[in-house]
Amino acid sequence: MGNDGQGSGHASDFSLKVPAKPVNKTGAGSTVRRATWLGPPRNTTENPDMVTIKVNNLIDFVADVFSHAESSTEEARRIATYLTTANLTGHDSHGVIRVPVYIRWKNTGDVVPNQSPEIVVDTPSLAVVDGRFGYGQTVAPFAVKTGIDKCKKAGLAAVALRNAGHIGRIGDWAEMAAAEGLVSVHFVNAAGSLLVAPFGGVEKRLSTAPYCVGIPRAGQDPIVLDFATSIVAEGKVLVASRGGKKLPKGALIDSDGTLSEDPTVLYGPHTVGGPRDHTAGTGAIRAFGEHKGSGLAFICELLGGALTGTGATSGGRKFANGMLSFYVNPKVVDTSNFFDGEITRYVDFIRATKPVAGVDSVLVPGDPERRTRAERTKNGVPLPDDTWAAIVNTAREVGVGEASIQRAFS
Ligand code: NAD
Repeated sequence: MGNDGQGSGHASDFSLKVPAKPVNKTGAGSTVRRATWLGPPRNTTENPDMVTIKVNNLIDFVADVFSHAESSTEEARRIATYLTTANLTGHDSHGVIRVPVYIRWKNTGDVVPNQSPEIVVDTPSLAVVDGRFGYGQTVAPFAVKTGIDKCKKAGLAAVALRNAGHIGRIGDWAEMAAAEGLVSVHFVNAAGSLLVAPFGGVEKRLSTAPYCVGIPRAGQDPIVLDFATSIVAEGKVLVASRGGKKLPKGALIDSDGTLSEDPTVLYGPHTVGGPRDHTAGTGAIRAFGEHKGSGLAFICELLGGALTGTGATSGGRKFANGMLSFYVNPKVVDTSNFFDGEITRYVDFIRATKPVAGVDSVLVPGDPERRTRAERTKNGVPLPDDTWAAIVNTAREVGVGEASIQRAFS
């Protein structure tokens, strides 16, 4: 697989096709409403042609797609809820845009519906969970629940998850542990995905290998730091290649070492509407943070990939996420009940930093997601027309009826 789970192969994981039936966007009986985008846009400049769908309608619709694709009602709803949550938190690259590729993987047998994960190592404080290529939205919560249960008993736990289907936004797993009062740290790799050049190199050797930390707070949302270790996700290169928002300076590196923001470095020559093949370009995405970020990506490959048994990433293999997670019960560590108050003091101290020109206020990790979640929960999830068209196309392919498609806009 070619990327961090966004695609199924080389040529165009992102070639979103128009639906079999044309989508009428104007006039009476429209199946797609024009978006009224009211919130902090992440992507209006990237794609002004948007539809907006209410959160519950989106979950229902996406669940219907997976129910028609061999997943149990429970699994279908789980996948739909996690994907929609990624959109709600502003991480559209890990949201419902993934529906077509998930179904493609199901059709090729790369992901297995209703899979039962297997605990292959089990000690009081440690487990190894084999996801057996089940949907990430099924096997990751199982692994996280295993870690939570062990941590609640032992105060500290580690769980290695191997061979998981795409586990999406890693922040979900940190939030799940935080909801149980636990600190968690997650090292993740995306085996089968070669997109990122290590520091000092010009060739793809790493996946976008995310790293995530979650810290619970009493009566408040947790602190969640959750990012890919590449400067940009491949999805952002795609958007730029389609004439959308430009990449940050030096996000890519060409084979001669030239830093670039030109998507042809990753995809080779292409037309705006044509397919994308990230193996066709001569260059790579750069790891963030120079040698430090590249080092963190490397560690994610070793811990999330090699130690879990998933394998550090390489080309020409089936996609799988690996995740090594550590869980700590702060109540066991913090006997004098100092931690939560100290977090509050320090968060306030950080937020009170004088901002640089052009920045409204200094934020802490988790703030942007919280803001976007509040706005989108109220106003709905904006989706580019072509993303929506691809999802509708997939829905029709698996046999979802027109009534269900129409209901998404009720
Ligand atoms: P990003 O660059 O948007 O960074 C997100 C992190 O930075 C969050 O913790 C956020 O709260 C924090 N942040 C953002 N702006 C901030 C600000 N102004 N001040 C303080 N903190 C700020 O995220 P990304 O690297 O594009 O990753 C997107 C998602 O993709 C993540 O959820 C990640 O887990 C997921 N991902 C998954 C895989 C996979 O294989 N499953 C691979 C790569 C990435």
